[in-house]
Amino acid sequence: MIDLHLHLDGSLSEDDFKYLAKLNNIDLGDDFPNNIYVPMECKSLDEYLERFDLPVKLLQTAESIEYATYSLVKRLCALGLFYAEIRFAPLLHLTKGMTQFEVVKSALCGLKKAIKECDYKIDANLILCCMRHASIEENLTTVETAHLLSNDKVVAIDLAGGETIHPCSYFSECFSLARRYKLNITIHAGEATGSDEIMRAIGEGAVRIGHGVHLSLDMFSVKKVNNAKITFEFCPTSNLQTKSLKTYKDVPLRQFINKDIRVTINCDNMTVSNTDCIKEMAIMVKTFKLDKREVIDIYDNAINASFTSEENKNKMRSIMLSAFDGSMLERLNLK
Ligand SMILES: [Zn+2]
Repeated sequence: MIDLHLHLDGSLSEDDFKYLAKLNNIDLGDDFPNNIYVPMECKSLDEYLERFDLPVKLLQTAESIEYATYSLVKRLCALGLFYAEIRFAPLLHLTKGMTQFEVVKSALCGLKKAIKECDYKIDANLILCCMRHASIEENLTTVETAHLLSNDKVVAIDLAGGETIHPCSYFSECFSLARRYKLNITIHAGEATGSDEIMRAIGEGAVRIGHGVHLSLDMFSVKKVNNAKITFEFCPTSNLQTKSLKTYKDVPLRQFINKDIRVTINCDNMTVSNTDCIKEMAIMVKTFKLDKREVIDIYDNAINASFTSEENKNKMRSIMLSAFDGSMLERLNLK
């Protein structure tokens, strides 16, 4: 199984929190562990994003970042994933003097160590997030960092953070540099904002859209996303918590499938949202009565849109079919 949209800082386990708190001499607060999960009655994306303050505080040294990445890949493999793209914003991890390059290098160390220990049953790559609240200079450094490490499991650039702060076109300079470096681009858009922001993201070179649930399904927009072969990274539970959508039934999965729009199901944040990508798919199967063929099509979309080589994609296609065994079918609500 595959997760294309997963944030490192939103996916530390309770044990990770305890270990990193001790390592960094940081108090987890009286309401730990409740303060690491977001309640369903969370009011907005901004309130949701506050849940990242504590994990980000814990991830300010090379040792901590390496450990967190290592632990996440190990847990993903134990969950039954064979591929994941893990994202985070290196510019949020500089308070103790590391450079963005050093931050990403330490994440790569943890990532590779875990893949090796998992006997290569899982592969994982990194996506570096630019942040909407950060300066253009800081975000340009993120793009430069991705370029320097693009041969070393850094596969794309993203733009994350409060969507209403700036439209993505505010960061055009960053995306044009990313395009010049031939970096893949995915952008969070159409979660707290509407279809216009999705169109702007495509204009900036995004081939994948994080969330995008508010895409208008008029003829013009559908033609535009399908002609550009855009893939959408849905993260249902997270959308309910940020009040982007009211219920699971409001996830426009059926509508997207009916219009032949490429859509994938992901987790966003394992801890903050208290979920994983298999649970998210199981919820979609139950809500929309998806059959096995439709679930395979959604995973196929994920493989096709993954930022990895054709050779790896072919390998994943054969692994995927054999992964639909008895226990996995049960976990996906297909049995
Ligand atoms: Zn996200």
